[in-house]
Amino acid sequence: MNAHPALTARQHPVVQVSNLVRSFGQGSNVLDGLDLTIRSGEFVALLGRSGSGKSTLLRTLAGLDEAPAGTVTVPAERAVVFQEPRLIPWKRVWANVALGLRTADARERAAAALTEVGLNHRLDAWPLTLSGGEAQRAALARALVREPKLLLLDEPFAALDALTRLKTQGLVASLWRAHRPAVLLVTHDVDEALLLADRVLILDQGRIGFDLHVNLERPRRHGQPAFSSLRSRL
Ligand code: ADP
Ligand code: MG
Repeated sequence: MNAHPALTARQHPVVQVSNLVRSFGQGSNVLDGLDLTIRSGEFVALLGRSGSGKSTLLRTLAGLDEAPAGTVTVPAERAVVFQEPRLIPWKRVWANVALGLRTADARERAAAALTEVGLNHRLDAWPLTLSGGEAQRAALARALVREPKLLLLDEPFAALDALTRLKTQGLVASLWRAHRPAVLLVTHDVDEALLLADRVLILDQGRIGFDLHVNLERPRRHGQPAFSSLRSRL
């Protein structure tokens, strides 16, 4: 039997976190000795209650939080998409995507990424003229153009209306299949996690309390005992 292409792609760890501890002020540790390995090409969903520390972990992996206690190894080539697109309003869409690219072909590269997300007709638009879904696709293009080995997504669909959410989820799935970055998707939506990810984690009491590899062929997932167990944890 031939290996599934996604399996052959996922050889080495791209994220290695060991004994990560993070607290704010005097309270208990938000992250409390957390261990996590993510391998090349994996699509990992991170679930957990509001306030469980999902965004704190994502910010740490993005390098946006102060140096934590513990060991964190991440690739230099990583990109983040948040719930809000965070486009710079006084730069045109293509220039937002090209931000930080130093090469002479920055506009062409931005245009190629915008084409991939279906926004090639909005290259010269101002961000404030985009719809919410378009702005989030521009944010995805801005991430994509960096050819990330690790793509960090913090509830990127949460602010979208239901139909736009479905379309944007489909876009993320196809971008992942085309480029195979490792993805860490933070979400509080178990259906979204099962739709998109091939591995589902739950953050609980500062650690990964549940870690389920989902069959890549995606058979009828919802009837499987593991999924009932997943749902019962949330
Ligand atoms: P989640 O994304 O799972 O909802 P967060 O990582 O945003 O959770 O927050 C985890 C906990 O850490 C919460 O109790 C939150 O109030 C606290 N926290 C997060 N960031 C800060 C900060 N910069 N200062 C103080 N407390 C914070
Ligand atoms: Mg959060």
